[in-house]
Amino acid sequence: MRYVCGAVQLLALICAVGSGFGQTAPAAIAGAVPAAVPVYDLLLMGGHVIDARNGISAVRDVAIKDGLIAAVAAHLDPAAALKVIDVTGLYVTPGLIDIHAHVYAGTGERGSYAGDLSLYPDGYTFRVGVTTLADAGCSGWRNFEDFKDRVIDRSRTRVLAFLNIVGNGMRGGKFESDITDMEAAPAAEMALRHKDLIVGFKTAHYTGPDWTPVEHAVEAGKVAKIPVMVDFGSDRPERPIAELLMSKLRPGDIYTHCYSGLRHELDEAGNLNPGMIEGRKRGVIFDVGHGNGSFAWRVAVPALKLGFLPDSISTDLHVGSMNTSMKDMLNVMDKFFAMGMSLDDVIRRSTWNPAREIQREELGHLSVGAPADVAVLSHLTGKFGLTDMYGARLQTHRKLVCELTVRNGKVVYDLNGISRPDWDKLPKNYLQTGDPRWDGIMPQRRTAPAPPRGGN
Ligand SMILES: [Zn+2]
Repeated sequence: MRYVCGAVQLLALICAVGSGFGQTAPAAIAGAVPAAVPVYDLLLMGGHVIDARNGISAVRDVAIKDGLIAAVAAHLDPAAALKVIDVTGLYVTPGLIDIHAHVYAGTGERGSYAGDLSLYPDGYTFRVGVTTLADAGCSGWRNFEDFKDRVIDRSRTRVLAFLNIVGNGMRGGKFESDITDMEAAPAAEMALRHKDLIVGFKTAHYTGPDWTPVEHAVEAGKVAKIPVMVDFGSDRPERPIAELLMSKLRPGDIYTHCYSGLRHELDEAGNLNPGMIEGRKRGVIFDVGHGNGSFAWRVAVPALKLGFLPDSISTDLHVGSMNTSMKDMLNVMDKFFAMGMSLDDVIRRSTWNPAREIQREELGHLSVGAPADVAVLSHLTGKFGLTDMYGARLQTHRKLVCELTVRNGKVVYDLNGISRPDWDKLPKNYLQTGDPRWDGIMPQRRTAPAPPRGGN
C-alpha cells in the first residue's frame, strides 16, 4: 500500500515538475515526445535592470542557465525557460556586494569579533539581496583557516575576507594593538595560499601613535598584490588622516568609515579634510563601513553636498550594528538615496564598484557568462525614517525591500512567494513545488514529512 501510494506521488511529482505549474515550455511536459531540455532554467521577466558595468538601466528580461547569466534582452521567449518569474515593476540588480562585514562567529570567544560579536552570514545576507560579502579583518594569518572551516566553507553566501594584519585577528584591544603580531610576511603568505578567498588586508582599532599597522599591511598588500582596508582606530595627532591618504596608502587601498567624522574627515566649518580630496585624486577608495559608530548625518550630508560620494556602500555588519542605526545593507543604501543620490548610483556602489575594489571583476554585473547572483528589489513609497550613530533621524519617503535573491542561479530568498505556485492550484497531495534547477529554497521532498513524535 505504501509502495502504491509512493508511486502515485512520484507520478504527481513528475507531472508537477514537468508542467512547471503552467510556466514551462510545452515540449518539456513529461509523457509527451522526449522532453526537450529547456534553453533556460530561470527567466526573470519584465524587471528594470540596473547593471552599472554594462551601462544598463532599463526594462530587460534576464535568463539564467546552469548557475550563470545566459541572456539579457528586451524580450526573451518565456517558452524557452523551465521557470518564469514575473518581476514587472521591480528592480533587477546584480547580487549586492558588502565588503565590510564581521562574520567570524562560532568560536565562543566573548566580546570578540573573532567570536560573539560576529554573525553567521546566511541569516543576514539573502534577505536583503546580498550574495557576496567580505569579512573585514576578523581573522589574521593565525586563525584564518579556522574561520574558513567554521564559516566560509559552510555558508551559502559567497564569503571573502580581508585578512587582519594582526596575526590573531580582531580578538580585542590587547591583540589588535600588539605590534609584535603585525607581520607582513606570514600574512602575505596566507593570502597567496588562499587567493580565491582573501581579497585584501585590514588594519583596525589601533590605539598607538605610530604607523606600524598601516605600513605592515601595505607591505603585505604589495607582496600579495591586493588592497589594504583601513579602519584608522584612535584619532592620534602623530598620524593624521591627511598623511594616511596622501602618502601612506596606495591607489586602490580603501579608507572605510569615511563618514564617521571621528578623524577630522570634515572640519568644524564644514570643509572636507584636504587629505580626503587629495586621497581621492590619488586613487584611494572611500568606503562607508556604517556600523554602529561610523556614520553621522552631520558628516555625510555636508560631504555629499560637496560632491564627496562614497566609492562603495558597505554595512560593517556585526551584532552591535544590526539592531541599532545600521540594520542592513538596504537600510544603508536607503540613506544614500535619501541624501539625493540616484538609485542607479546607489546600486553601482553596492555591486560593480565594490567588485572592482576587491579585484573580483567577474562579480557585480549581469553579463552573459557571469555567476547568476541577482537581487530583485522593490522601492516602496511611504513614510520612513533612517537613523545615524548618534540616534539622529532623517525622514525619507522611499525604502528598498528585497523581494527575491538568486545565488548561483537558484532562488534562495523569496519574500512574497513570487516564484511559488498557489497552493490551491496544485495536486491535492502536493509535495514538490519547485525544481532543483532553479529552486534553492525548498527541500526536494519526495515523501511526506514524518509525523511529529510528540513533545514539540
Ligand atoms: Zn568593521
